[in-house]
Amino acid sequence: MTPEEFRKSGHELIELIAAYRESVGDLPVRSNAKVGEVLDQLPVHAPLSPESPDSIIEDIHEQIIPRMTHWQHPSFYAYFPSNADLSSVLGDLLSSGLGQLGLNWESSPPLTEIEQRMCEWLRHMLGLADSWHGVIQDTASSATLVALLCARERTSGFSQMRGGVRDGPELMVYSSSQAHSSIGKAALLAGFGRQSVRSCAVRRDFSIDTDVLREMLEEDLAAGKKPCAIVACTGTTATTAMDDIESLAQLSREFGCWLHVDGAMAGSAMILPEMRHLWHGIEQADSIVFNPHKWLGVVFDCSVYYVRDSEHLVRVMSTNPSYLQTAADGLAPNYRDWGIPLGRRFRAMKLWWLLRTEGVDNLQARLRRDIANAQWLEEQINDQPHWRLLAPVQLQTLCVAHEPPAMTVAQLDQYTQQWCEAINKSGLAMLTPAMIVDPDTQASRWMVRVSIGALDTTREHVERLWQTMQEYTRNNS
Ligand SMILES: *Cc1c(COP(=O)(O)O)cnc(C)c1O
Repeated sequence: MTPEEFRKSGHELIELIAAYRESVGDLPVRSNAKVGEVLDQLPVHAPLSPESPDSIIEDIHEQIIPRMTHWQHPSFYAYFPSNADLSSVLGDLLSSGLGQLGLNWESSPPLTEIEQRMCEWLRHMLGLADSWHGVIQDTASSATLVALLCARERTSGFSQMRGGVRDGPELMVYSSSQAHSSIGKAALLAGFGRQSVRSCAVRRDFSIDTDVLREMLEEDLAAGKKPCAIVACTGTTATTAMDDIESLAQLSREFGCWLHVDGAMAGSAMILPEMRHLWHGIEQADSIVFNPHKWLGVVFDCSVYYVRDSEHLVRVMSTNPSYLQTAADGLAPNYRDWGIPLGRRFRAMKLWWLLRTEGVDNLQARLRRDIANAQWLEEQINDQPHWRLLAPVQLQTLCVAHEPPAMTVAQLDQYTQQWCEAINKSGLAMLTPAMIVDPDTQASRWMVRVSIGALDTTREHVERLWQTMQEYTRNNS
């Protein structure tokens, strides 16, 4: 494609995206496509001769958009907000358009230095001390893998330089039963093995039970095992539960563990000073991950990983072949040594666009709006008979059940999934049905998760959602 052709199709594509965003609120939120429906539209082989960009744009209108689930829809309450602010979309376009690749500082000085500055800006926004060093990763899953590799190497005295993890006592990893699946996955990939990854019980508010954890640590130590890492959650996936970082830091010190904090979703809330008590003790952690690609508004993917000891990180991750050595080594960070991939995209460009065009004030105002909307819905639910919240509302996620009288537990489970699916199928809103375990009885049951925080979700949308929820449950009240 020539620059002239790019200019023409590029303008059309920008127009397509802008028009899509203007009208996304009129579309059914969830895709009702059948499996294979998109696949069946696509030719089996690549075209032998060129096709016109116009024919691709036509396919986007006809085949793609009508079959999408609309994450940017104001009535999207499923999973978590994955906000793609259009400013960051421009940053993404620029990142690709400039065709930059970071291998070392010299391969693209602005890529490294804007990333450095953006990690600092975010650090200030989160209220973290200057002693933290940040790097952008693709996802929280990768950052957590890096954290556990660093933990493994610190606790084992650099076993990678000897016989690997088998060369010493069994290393143990701990997190709560509510921890994200990426933590167990990272632990397995980092070589800990299933039996060395322990899941700890939670308290009534779904935060890790630090008394039970202490018993686990003592038990393992007595059995000749070596506690290696504790992964704390600031905002669990199911209920946004907040682990007690202060107590976990105390345990980490006592037992010589690395403390990694998974704030993938809720980390964004820490740009609000009034929310920082939720991760009280954070300054004592060894590493933190948070995803600007969720609530904050940077289009996927952009995950920020902070470490206290960047020298240790580089020592674990560094490879230094001669063809990548330059005179700037030691003067500027070589981010290839701060994570797993060698090459890196210009992801910082997306942050740069979002933070400059919005400003911190607007981002704070939007997050406060979402929290207020969640509190409003919380009040409605508490005031209405037969409705119940199954977990404390910490930020913008509500765990909801509608419990008509005289239903058995099994009936209730079926009913909950049924009204949630009915709303999702209607296209009016999208919610997530999920299982929640009662911390007292250990019995699991179905609930409906309402995650508020799409860019365009106003109080009116949340009011309409509450009406819809009542309508779809009316015959059973
Ligand atoms: C979303 C989420 C993750 C995983 O994030 P990815 O960036 O998709 O890997 C991990 N932990 C928590 C608490 C999350 O909310």
